[in-house]
Amino acid sequence: MANSGQKVVLITGCSSGIGLRIAVTLATDEKKRYHVIATMRDLKKKDKLLEAAGDAYGKTLMLLPLDVCSDESVRQCINSVKDRHIDILINNAGMGLLGPVESISIEEMKRVFDTNFFGVVRMIKEVMPDMKKRRSGHIVVMSSVMGLQGVVFNDVYTASKFAMEGFCESMAVQLLKFNIRLSMIEPGPVHTEFETKMMEEVAKMEYPGVDADTIRYFKDVYLPSSIDIFEAMGQTPEDIAKCTKKVIE
Ligand code: NDP
Repeated sequence: MANSGQKVVLITGCSSGIGLRIAVTLATDEKKRYHVIATMRDLKKKDKLLEAAGDAYGKTLMLLPLDVCSDESVRQCINSVKDRHIDILINNAGMGLLGPVESISIEEMKRVFDTNFFGVVRMIKEVMPDMKKRRSGHIVVMSSVMGLQGVVFNDVYTASKFAMEGFCESMAVQLLKFNIRLSMIEPGPVHTEFETKMMEEVAKMEYPGVDADTIRYFKDVYLPSSIDIFEAMGQTPEDIAKCTKKVIE
């Protein structure tokens, strides 16, 4: 349980990458300012987080299951937090999707929106009433540079982040009246499993009805150059975790 004076921080998508690192960075804060509720949709994936968090687990770090695509899971998760009191919500869970739109089914596109856009909306709707009652709170959203700028072959991912940016920009104005802050973090490439997962999907991709020029451009030009950009410019999850800590301080 949080000590008085500690801020309760709930983070989504802590099984890997940026979410895991934010959870560890805040839970091991030298001044013990944060009580971290790290959530993940499958608690069987907790070992990497617990190993990185060391003895913070059970003290400044606890775990809860949460699938941001499920209304019920979101409700249950927030209800199981003491007094539903969350000072800082960090919406980090997300997924990518890469490829020519002709190769991507509408179902896959909806899954990306359900995670990256509605996942954030569900979380904000659930925590907002209690934050409003307390007239305090901070909501942080992990967007992307692709929430600001379209990038070829990332059409659906970009659209999901643009949608989220629009929603949050509009919400921020109403929330400010209740002393609730809303911040967006917009990283460029970050070395996590995100890219690996997308590349695994690309490896299975089929191209029915896609013209030969587009396939060639995607496979021979876009993919190799995007891997080069990741290699050359990729930040670490630690970089983004430090930035997030600055944002909430
Ligand atoms: P990872 O793939 O390493 O982590 C994504 C996390 O989101 C995982 O914990 C994953 O859980 C979780 N997640 C996915 N779907 C759900 C769901 N329905 N409910 C709960 N959790 C879910 O990628 P990153 O750490 O890189 O990504 C984190 C965020 O950063 C994302 O929002 C991404 O869009 C954003 N971002 C990433 C960049 C990058 O280059 N890596 C650049 C800019 C932004 P599970 O293990 O169960 O799949």
